[in-house]
Amino acid sequence: MRLDKFLSHTGFGSRAEVKKLIKKKQVVVNGQLAKEVNKQIDEYQDVIQVGGEKVVYEKFVYYLLNKPAGVITATEDKQHRTVLDLLSPTDWQEDLFPVGRLDKDTTGLLIITNDGKTAHDWLSPKKHVTKVYQALVEGVMTKEDQQAFSSGMVLSNGEVCLPAELTLLQIDTDKQECLVEIKLSEGKYHQVKRMVAACGKHVKQLHRKQMGNLVLPEDLKQGEYCKMDPQKI
Ligand code: URA
Repeated sequence: MRLDKFLSHTGFGSRAEVKKLIKKKQVVVNGQLAKEVNKQIDEYQDVIQVGGEKVVYEKFVYYLLNKPAGVITATEDKQHRTVLDLLSPTDWQEDLFPVGRLDKDTTGLLIITNDGKTAHDWLSPKKHVTKVYQALVEGVMTKEDQQAFSSGMVLSNGEVCLPAELTLLQIDTDKQECLVEIKLSEGKYHQVKRMVAACGKHVKQLHRKQMGNLVLPEDLKQGEYCKMDPQKI
């Protein structure tokens, strides 16, 4: 692997930032001062130090973010803040990407990784990874709506959904709104909002709590993230 790629992977910023570190004589490879960004290194065998500290190589990293509303699920965007902009410069690396997509106004669990194979498994329609959402809905959802969810709903464009679970958590009859939990085993575009719309109601707020066996920790505030142990993935 090229030295600049290695350092970018291990959290030392973009390749331009890494170049500056090398110029500043901060990078040592096997006891020798590194001079060129394109030097080939063995990421498992060679001893790389930055500012005197040994750098440990992790091929794949996994962050669990509590996405706030107002940021978009993308790697870069000219107008909006992206979920990757929420990572600290020391955790950012150029090969990171979000696994799947939450709408700009949706909050909650989003995984950010550089592991394409595992991301593909999480998203593959064949794997049926469960996603659990909590939604504040304008209108009160009924037993018939629950039935429609569980029997495989047909959306307004004719798309057929897999059976899903709708659980009523709270009803506010004065405001004519309710809080529901929705469990899906697929991930169609705007799926929750479209399923609720197919029942003649409207999602006011949407929050993802769980994806597969990964549950959003209660103490992780919106905009915060934590690094996950690869063993637990
Ligand atoms: N379903 C939606 O409608 N929006 C999301 O962000 C996620 C699931």
